[in-house]
Amino acid sequence: MGGKRQPVPAEFAVQGEAAIRTALLKRRRARSREYMKEWRSNPKHRERERERRDRDYIFKKQRSARRLLLRPYTRVDGRPQCGFCGLGRPVEIVERLRISTRADEEYEKVLIPYCGHC
Ligand SMILES: [Zn+2]
Repeated sequence: MGGKRQPVPAEFAVQGEAAIRTALLKRRRARSREYMKEWRSNPKHRERERERRDRDYIFKKQRSARRLLLRPYTRVDGRPQCGFCGLGRPVEIVERLRISTRADEEYEKVLIPYCGHC
């Protein structure tokens, strides 16, 4: 790993800038892959990586749940989202009935953004 930088082979140099860039990128990726392979061969590192992944997963879920609680029917970037399919951009707001949680009414009206396709 590491060591002295190797020059780009001459065959790439004659092919121009793009070929050199591609060759460098390819080499960097190969080195990164090698490095990570080595890094993961240590069980302690693997354990740390797993912990980080689990933590990130929970954090992401919590953040998403909080966002939907504060601003329902929005995407991760905050843009509005269809309340049914969750894919399209809403073009209208439709009225639906939901089973009420209160004792005085059996159903209650809810307004849901709708994309018009699903
Ligand atoms: Zn939809």
